[in-house]
Amino acid sequence: MTVLVTGGAGYIGGHMVLALLDAGEQVVVLDNLSTGFRWAVPEAAKLIIGDFGDAQLVDAILAEHGVDAIAHFAAKIVVPESVADPIAYYHNNTAKALSLLECAVRHKIKHFIFSSTAAVYGEPEISPISEQTPLAPINPYGRSKLMVEWMLQDVAKAHDLRFAVLRYFNVAGADPKGRLGQSSPKATHLIKVAVQAALGHRKGVDVFGADYPTRDGSCIRDYIQVTDLIDAHLLALAHLRKGGESLTCNCGYGRGLSVLEVVDVVKQVSGVKFDVRISGRRPGDPASLVAGADRIRTMLHWTPRHDDVGEIVRQALDWERRLHNRSIEADRQKV
Ligand code: UDP
Repeated sequence: MTVLVTGGAGYIGGHMVLALLDAGEQVVVLDNLSTGFRWAVPEAAKLIIGDFGDAQLVDAILAEHGVDAIAHFAAKIVVPESVADPIAYYHNNTAKALSLLECAVRHKIKHFIFSSTAAVYGEPEISPISEQTPLAPINPYGRSKLMVEWMLQDVAKAHDLRFAVLRYFNVAGADPKGRLGQSSPKATHLIKVAVQAALGHRKGVDVFGADYPTRDGSCIRDYIQVTDLIDAHLLALAHLRKGGESLTCNCGYGRGLSVLEVVDVVKQVSGVKFDVRISGRRPGDPASLVAGADRIRTMLHWTPRHDDVGEIVRQALDWERRLHNRSIEADRQKV
């Protein structure tokens, strides 16, 4: 059986590809390399450079490779960009996902795993956030993802297809074996940025707001290590293949860390006292986003193995050093 991984040359999709290969699965990656990297895909996987919205191409892949499951990671994920260019987000994340789903139905694909996001909840007042929390996204990014969740629910009712919707909280860290990590030069994620500051690759860290109603005034997030997140995908895939019902699960640990706490951990682990500036709030940042993470543990028997922010930061630091030292930068320019 073969899994089609869209966005498999990217950060999270790339970790899925590694895990599937480690588990002895056949993998086809479909990625347009807009933010992913050719070098991120091991030779054991088949990389097809193209767009998941290209129905002809997807039809050909599904016809040729004996695909039984699609893991759909490819997406645009930058919230402010989604506000500035909503059409691009609805086109890429929603309309093209509809095309992918059409192909899946046409080829009788039974299992679909979808990368969703805590952004579907918007700014909930209740914490932790359970899957029953009202869905109220506050930006086009969150809405573009939520619409795909709805499409999946309707399609699964009408066709022989079951899905796992996984709502990611803040994904961080890197492959513990050092094979992959967050490599995007434009990544703005807190741990990535702080690690770059620790390594002297950028000048300090701006803390976007220290006047939130939280324990130290900075925003609280639930940082989940990337291979723990991918374990949840493998469990979801096994669940669907066993005939399990469609499911929607939060992916987080159920514990929050503030921006200032994360920055302190990065200072401790790296031993570098980089500059930290308190600056203004970033528009659209909820004060606190912590996953209610019971469902994923009970339904999928998920047991995280890397729930330690020190370890997550160490992995991110190691990967950032590798990126720098091995001149992957040069490869990156080529693709
Ligand atoms: N953040 C920050 N400085 C940065 C990057 C992020 O203070 O350079 C804060 C951001 O405002 C948010 C938290 O860190 O409160 C996590 O942001 P990130 O972009 O990593 O993920 P998000 O929660 O937006 O998906």
